[in-house]
Amino acid sequence: MASYSNYRAPPLKHTFMTTERIDKYISNAYFSDVNLRSRLLSKTIEAAEILHYPAKGRFDFEIAKSAAYSPKKVGDSFGPLWSTHWFRVKFVVPEDLTAALKEYEEVLFYWDSSSEATIWDEVKGHPIGAFSCAEPHGNVREYFPVSNEMLSSKRVEFLLEVTCNKDLGEGNGSFIAPPNEKATYSLKRCQMAVRDSRVYSLLTDLKILHDIAKELKDKERGFVALYTANEIVNRLQSTFPDAISKAQELAADYFSQGSGPNQHTVHAVGHCHMDCAWLWPFEETKRKCARSWSATLDLMNRYPNWKFACSSAQQYEWVQHHYPLLFAQIQESVKSGRFIPVGGSWVEMDGYLPSGESMCRQLLYGQSFFLREFGIKSTEFWLPDTFGYSAQLPQIISHFGMNRFFTQKISWNLINKFPHHTFYWKGLDGSCVLSHFAPGDSYHMKGEVGELVKTSTNFEDKGRSNKSLYLFGHGDGGQGPTQDMLENLDRLKDIDGLPRVELSTPAEFFTSIEEKEARNLCTWSGELYLEMHNGTYTTQSKIKWYNRRCESLLHNLEFLSTLAYIHDLSPYPFISLDKLWKGVLLNQFHDVLPGSSIEATHKDARAIYTNIIKEGKALQEELLQQISDKTEGVLTVCNALSWPRTELVAVETACVLGDILQEDLKGRAYQLVSVGALAISQPTMPSFIPVSVKRMKASTPGSSDWILMENSKVYAELDYLGRITWLSVKEEGELKTPSRNLLSGAANQFAVYDDIPLFWDAWDVMGYHQETRRALTDVIAAAVVVEEGPLRGSIEVSIKISDRSYLKQIIVLDAESPYLRVDCEIYWHENRKFLKVEFPLNIVSDHVTYETQFGHIRRPTHRNTSWDSAKYEVCCQRWMDLSDYSVGVSIMNDSKYGCSVTDHSTLHLSLLRAPKAPDANADMGTHRFSYAVMPHTGSFQEAGVIRRARDLNSPLLVKGSLSKIKETSLVVCDQPSIVLDTIKAAECDRNTEVKGPKSLILRCYESYGGSCSARFTIQSHSVDYVAICDGLEKELEQPIVGVGDSQWFITSFSPFQVKTIKVVLL
Ligand SMILES: [Zn+2]
Repeated sequence: MASYSNYRAPPLKHTFMTTERIDKYISNAYFSDVNLRSRLLSKTIEAAEILHYPAKGRFDFEIAKSAAYSPKKVGDSFGPLWSTHWFRVKFVVPEDLTAALKEYEEVLFYWDSSSEATIWDEVKGHPIGAFSCAEPHGNVREYFPVSNEMLSSKRVEFLLEVTCNKDLGEGNGSFIAPPNEKATYSLKRCQMAVRDSRVYSLLTDLKILHDIAKELKDKERGFVALYTANEIVNRLQSTFPDAISKAQELAADYFSQGSGPNQHTVHAVGHCHMDCAWLWPFEETKRKCARSWSATLDLMNRYPNWKFACSSAQQYEWVQHHYPLLFAQIQESVKSGRFIPVGGSWVEMDGYLPSGESMCRQLLYGQSFFLREFGIKSTEFWLPDTFGYSAQLPQIISHFGMNRFFTQKISWNLINKFPHHTFYWKGLDGSCVLSHFAPGDSYHMKGEVGELVKTSTNFEDKGRSNKSLYLFGHGDGGQGPTQDMLENLDRLKDIDGLPRVELSTPAEFFTSIEEKEARNLCTWSGELYLEMHNGTYTTQSKIKWYNRRCESLLHNLEFLSTLAYIHDLSPYPFISLDKLWKGVLLNQFHDVLPGSSIEATHKDARAIYTNIIKEGKALQEELLQQISDKTEGVLTVCNALSWPRTELVAVETACVLGDILQEDLKGRAYQLVSVGALAISQPTMPSFIPVSVKRMKASTPGSSDWILMENSKVYAELDYLGRITWLSVKEEGELKTPSRNLLSGAANQFAVYDDIPLFWDAWDVMGYHQETRRALTDVIAAAVVVEEGPLRGSIEVSIKISDRSYLKQIIVLDAESPYLRVDCEIYWHENRKFLKVEFPLNIVSDHVTYETQFGHIRRPTHRNTSWDSAKYEVCCQRWMDLSDYSVGVSIMNDSKYGCSVTDHSTLHLSLLRAPKAPDANADMGTHRFSYAVMPHTGSFQEAGVIRRARDLNSPLLVKGSLSKIKETSLVVCDQPSIVLDTIKAAECDRNTEVKGPKSLILRCYESYGGSCSARFTIQSHSVDYVAICDGLEKELEQPIVGVGDSQWFITSFSPFQVKTIKVVLL
């Protein structure tokens, strides 16, 4: 009888041939009738009965339990896209099955409905696992283990909720294309089968050995892996009864040869990147969470040693609402330290577009949820998939208890490779957070050899650190880790020639760096700009418009609510405001506000916004009514911003102070008013110099007529296209002499560009678009003077964009206003075009300043290096400014975020794009928005640009009745650089009665980029004490406070510092 001792491997082996031999031996596609995979399953059992019930809605478990089902069979089709189908599947367990089962055999239920599906525990009423189909992304989850307990009952039944979508939606042709609404689904597999766990294990062994042989080609450990795998294949070909155990020994011997203790260590954490919506709607994500997380808990029961990190409080709240029993299990798992809430944010939001306060609320709502429901606070900020990161994030996340940051997205840079993976990220104010970019460049690893090799070779901080984070689990559309991944990682934990793998947590990873490597690390200062996806500052213009409007509305509502609250007029409307905020925060998710979702998702997002505006306006009206004493005919103005304002408002004629000087087109009277900071009061009527807007005759033969627009602060000449040809600053009503045209060419010039990216349609605008500029000079209706002053002057002009699109604009100059405002109405029906408006300036500077969250940053006007050049399209909040030492021009906007500079001094504001995927109708239709041009002398700080841009976004609220409250200025700060950004009731007041002691929160920041000691005075309210807090409103220290009757306190600010100040009233 032959024995293994006689066996000899052939002396010469061809590497390619041998590698391919192993590949085919474990292949699903080739020779699977005779290779090792053919031995995986035995005794398949077909379903005795398959019953089907087409559901009407998405959350129909209770209905589905008792609904009438009808028969279906494998091969049957159902649909359409996004519909839900329940299946009841019944198996009769053969008499001899359980008795005949060997100890290495297990019974699995296989299901393939060519879609995602959830398996339910019908008795207990919660999801217990999930399925997904292999096509087109290969993220397959195809079986569910059948327990012995289920088998013992002789009849096994499953209740399945089938959702008609793939894990990444149903793109028609390409995965980011608009969904195929006509997609149908079919039942491809429904059976139980007995799996040989030894064969499953050997398949995993061979896969790993095969991959090592390929990845470590030409290295000794690679050859040994190849030799071992080949020998395993040879042994398994034989019919010896111990063939399998001998093969297992060979594999175990290889895997037991460990690496040295100082090898790069990969901290492997289970993960499941779950987009709140993207190529599917929000509603489906709620079910995706249930599928992914129930499958995760199931896998945790079977594999006890791994941990799962999961972000986004919003998603936990969805599961809590729709799947309370599953949520209770998650709470238990969090308690035992295995399910780990990370990120501390409400959703994984965009990193550039939300305002500073929105970012704070993302973290306030996120961390508060985690504290309330799990008793924990995240220590790591987590945005693995967001398209760039504001320079203010290090400070903001630190303010909310997180001094660590994780992502991998900057690896998507098209031009420059980011030089670090583990480093300190220094923010705008100097705050530093320990940051890590996964060097595997992914957040959905699969436990594969190639990923580990890339992780260690790609790591940029070798020598400084020897560890990295490695997130495994299918992601984007959910799903998470699988049994295969855990089996792979188990073999890879310590193999000579590869990084070591430790099943870990994000906190353990960061802590180990802090303990051992922190002092070696480099620092990156400023924003983390993603050299890609920079079209997302502009795409889906309406979503962005709503975001800005809602942020302003919530600011006003919180100010008014605070006033009503501290004057004992009404309880603080926490619940109403929470609802509105949560809608805004959800829509700031990193595929919604950036505009990279399907049409259905943007429609849902717009519906959320419309509701916020409707409910917010109703609440605003209610608050104004509470504040009003019902005496009609008295002009009352509310200024929710923290500085005094003089502005033009339109009021009912009965409320006019003094004579009616000018009426608007609706018959309301224009009124120039002055009002204090954070005030609701009867305004005063300031003196003013009248606006002058008039058509001027051409001074020389052959030249054209032009329009003069002039007030006490601005002098402008405009042509028939509404282009500004001359712009100067006036001081004290006079032109600064010598008068200097701040423009180097025609400003307010619209231009259209071809906008065809390389692949990511809604996401990307490529640098080459700037080579396709076409200035819009076809006039439909030349500029005419509509209003001539004395309070408001305006002109109107209409311009052709193409045969399908045109724009109308009204250019406005108000008395005493420092800027020309341009109100645009655009009819836009283009295909892959980019609309911008440009301002060529006669100003020399090497940088433009852009507003960012709670501050501003500089970016170069030049393209000296590849890093400068890559920033051809950038993001700002409300303004950008180009200044020299003596003068400057700011471009301010009410809802735009994209901007750029060309030719060193031409500023561009990006207005509209026209991508066709994943939303074929993105940005089509009518758009209304405003921007403004503000010339100034001196620095933009001294000229008040920061305040004026905020004014543009927050018009004064006007009421025609007297206020019960005579709040002339709730809080006054003596430093012009301090912006009191937000005023609200403190979180600790959530249970406070109307007449109880009250606490306010003031969120302030230093806006000039300098330091100061600021004195705040609380007017007309008695203060108990003041505390400087963290973002979660935990009291940290008490500032110097005034004694006796004075209600003031002093606190110092460093450049761009954000402070949360709690004022406890008596
Ligand atoms: Zn994502």
